[in-house]
Amino acid sequence: MTDSVDVVVIGAGPAGLYTASQLVVAGLDIVVLEARDRVGGRLHSPVIGSARFDLGATWFWDNEPLVNQLVSDRSLTTFAQHLDGDMLFQTGAGVERIRGNQLDAPASRLVDGMQSIAESLLEEIPAEAVRLNDPVLSISPHEQSLAVEAKGSSWSTEHVVLAVPPATALNTIELGRSLPEQLRNLAAETPVWMGAATKIVAHYQRPFWRDSGLAGAAFSHLGPLREIHDMSGPGGDPAAIFGFAQPSAGAQPVTERDVLEQLEEIFGPYAARPIELLVADWRTEQFTSPPGVERLGEYQTYGHRLYQQPALDGRLHWASTETSVVAPGHTEGALAAASRAVGEILEGRSTVRSGS
Ligand SMILES: Cc1cc2nc3c(=O)[nH]c(=O)nc-3n(C[C@H](O)[C@H](O)[C@H](O)COP(=O)(O)OP(=O)(O)OC[C@H]3O[C@@H](n4cnc5c(N)ncnc54)[C@H](O)[C@@H]3O)c2cc1C
Repeated sequence: MTDSVDVVVIGAGPAGLYTASQLVVAGLDIVVLEARDRVGGRLHSPVIGSARFDLGATWFWDNEPLVNQLVSDRSLTTFAQHLDGDMLFQTGAGVERIRGNQLDAPASRLVDGMQSIAESLLEEIPAEAVRLNDPVLSISPHEQSLAVEAKGSSWSTEHVVLAVPPATALNTIELGRSLPEQLRNLAAETPVWMGAATKIVAHYQRPFWRDSGLAGAAFSHLGPLREIHDMSGPGGDPAAIFGFAQPSAGAQPVTERDVLEQLEEIFGPYAARPIELLVADWRTEQFTSPPGVERLGEYQTYGHRLYQQPALDGRLHWASTETSVVAPGHTEGALAAASRAVGEILEGRSTVRSGS
């Protein structure tokens, strides 16, 4: 059976949910189709033990008006990234201590994790309008509408918002030949922000590095972690540091042993004994990254002019962070792209109504 709605939003990351919440306020009939069994996309803060740990995005910044407004409107509790102390620098010659912390900039974090941004948006959308575990398989144009086929549902709609990284959309959704070739090529080569990253979080009993005046920040020429940051909660509880490993194409996955050896060399023996080591390899997440994601390097495609206008006769709108001209890659970019897509839809509908 095919259902009809005004707008199908594909993806329940921050871009998709921000789009959906604004369209609900505008009185439109919408559905959000999400492939995973959770909302948030690259905002992912699972509960482990009694705390939440950010395995995707960690920070937002003062110069990002949309995220700051959203966080303050929904009364999400923030705290400042820990900056105090010296940083460390690992090279083949050993570990050097550098006065002050030149790696971390002032940034804000959320006590309940960055995923709570998505969860707060979810509350503003009717529950029956969000379908989890329902990956979209195809989009095809019909005369005055688009047909959307998902794993467990079929839709006929005026507008589709693709709130999925363009290269991931191309990999997971059959868009047919209807999409102009230039746009298909652009989408195929647009990198997925952090899609090739492995984020590794080491959770400790206490933030032991702070005892010796260290910030928990480190930079390494050797790897596997290239940069390391304090990721503890407010007041150092829970205590954690995290690092990014950015494997090149064809490289072996990072092993826990390599990471623990590196942390021990940088921070001393205590660092080799975390309560747990959490590893999020985003390359292996099919609803974030297409195969070979680490080979996509054309970052100048971000916010490309072709993403700033709807395709398929004004019916297909791009809304992932990669399509934003503002802060592309960041959560702020996802919200900005969503706002643009909402504007396109509302403007298109008022033009049709006024007959111009
Ligand atoms: C390790 C890491 C660290 C990061 N650090 C930061 C940071 O500190 N600060 C910051 O601002 N940003 C950071 N980011 C980026 C931030 O997470 C993204 O900018 C943001 O999540 C993008 O939102 P989005 O809605 O555009 O895409 P996503 O969050 O990727 O959401 C896309 C959604 O679409 C769904 N989907 C995909 N295919 C389909 C399909 N076929 N059918 C239905 N649903 C589908 C996905 O499951 C997902 O839920 C980080 C990202 C990662 C991975």
